[in-house]
This record gives sequence, structure tokens and C-alpha cells, in this order.
Amino acid sequence: MNCIKPFALVTLLFLLPAGAGALTYNQTPVPGGIATINLPADVDPATLRYRERRVLVTRQADRAIAVVGLALGAKPGTHYLEARTRNDEPLRLSFQVSDKAYETQHITIKDKRKVNPEKRDMERISREQKQIKSALRQWSDTDTVALEFLKPVDGPTSSPFGLRRFFNEQPRKPHSGLDIAAPEGTPIRAPAPGTIINTGDYFFNGNTVFIDHGQGLVTMYCHMNRIEVETGQRVAAGEVIGAVGMTGRVTGPHLHWGVSLNDSRVDPTLFMTGTETAATGAPDIGGNAP
Ligand SMILES: [Zn+2]
Repeated sequence: MNCIKPFALVTLLFLLPAGAGALTYNQTPVPGGIATINLPADVDPATLRYRERRVLVTRQADRAIAVVGLALGAKPGTHYLEARTRNDEPLRLSFQVSDKAYETQHITIKDKRKVNPEKRDMERISREQKQIKSALRQWSDTDTVALEFLKPVDGPTSSPFGLRRFFNEQPRKPHSGLDIAAPEGTPIRAPAPGTIINTGDYFFNGNTVFIDHGQGLVTMYCHMNRIEVETGQRVAAGEVIGAVGMTGRVTGPHLHWGVSLNDSRVDPTLFMTGTETAATGAPDIGGNAP
């Protein structure tokens, strides 16, 4: 057996069995998806890293399971978690990521400044990008993290996660969230308990709220017409944080809902249990983007 590497290469990994309870996710991991990896008993969870970011660890019975967010730009093939054992031995865990072809979407934006910002907008945009990145990279130590989300707004999906996008025929970043269409003023509810870590009015995202759910799981709500929470505030699952609007770069009223896990934007539907919604009764008003 080849043992030249200074760490144990552990390739015997398991996907969570269906119905195991933590996540309703039992497919092969893909870009924009989640990998769930059983951890050996002697791993120190605080040392676990994926691409240098800390990783969420959940417990089922007496097993520890890493729940890893995979960026839309993740390359298909073998990926690694790095960790140390409780005896401080280095450990490397591998898992496979498969390819996924997301569809293409072409959008026409009337406000051309929102597609090709003016010079005076660029300073604001780069300042905001730093704040947004910092919110999405938040890490807080929590014993447990709710991995099952309520739907924050009742309404049809107007743009699914992952679309490869063109604004006014110009290629832009892929769609890193889920768009839910709803009339302006429809309440937006926290999908799970958490702490508000940032609110603001951003150039592209409009009025925005970030909720930290713990262990690198952060959710983001954009284009709101009003914000009803403040930074530092604790929210319960189902608590109203504001209302649907059309601020920022939009073609109509909708919620852009983003979910970030270990600083990777992942598909919010992976956290939804199916039928449970935080609110009911919003009429179906058809599609809007972005
Ligand atoms: Zn969106």
C-alpha cells in the first residue's frame, strides 16, 4: 500500500441515506449543491476546512456529518475536506462532485445603468461588494443549525437557481439565488431562526437583509420594499423581516432569496422540506426577473 502522503487519505465516504432527517438531499453532489459526508469519530469538527473555509457539522444519533456547500463554479471531480483528529493528526477526506448543466436565461433590463453601471456607480458597487462578501462569509459557532427551511414567501418560482444569465445580451454571473414572484408588500419571513447581520440598500440588490443561521449558513433577501429588522436582532422561524418589493436591478416585484454555506452560494430549494411555507395565500402573479 502506498503511504507516502503525510496524512491519511480516507476515501470511504457515505452520502446521507434518504429520509435521514437532517437534509432532504440524497443526490450526487453538484456545483451549487450540497455534499453530506460522514465524519470519522476522531475528527475535531473545529479543524474541518473546505477550500480554507470552516464547514458546518451536524449530528445524527452519535454520528457527525459535514454539510458542505459547493460553489456554482466548482469543478466536477474529486474534492477534499481537510481536518485534524483529536490527537492532532492531519486527515483528508475526499468526495466526488458531478457536473450539472444549468439552463440559460436572457433578460432585458430597461435601466441600462443597472447593466453597464456608470463610473460614479462603480465606487458604490465595489464598496457594497465588500459588505456583501463579508456578510456571506460570516461564521458563528452554534451547537445546532436548522437545516430545514420554511419558504420565506408564498409564490411561484420566477427564476430558478443556477441559470446562466445574459442581461441585454451581455453575459453576467449565474443566478446565485431563487426568485419567488409575489405582489409588492407581501411579507417576507425568516425561514429558520437566526441573527440579522446586515441590512442595506444596495445598487443591484436593492433593500437587502442577511440572516446568520450559524456555522457558515447565511441567507440573503433582496429587492425588498421595506426592511423591518435591524442588525443584531434575533429572529425566529416565520418572523416577518420585511416585504417584497422591486428595488435594485429588477423587472418586477419578487424576492431574490440567496443561501450561502461555507461562502458558497447553493440552491435554496435543497433546504426546503416540500410543503411547509411560512405564509399562505399569496396569489400567483407569474414570472419576474432577476
Ligand atoms: Zn434573483
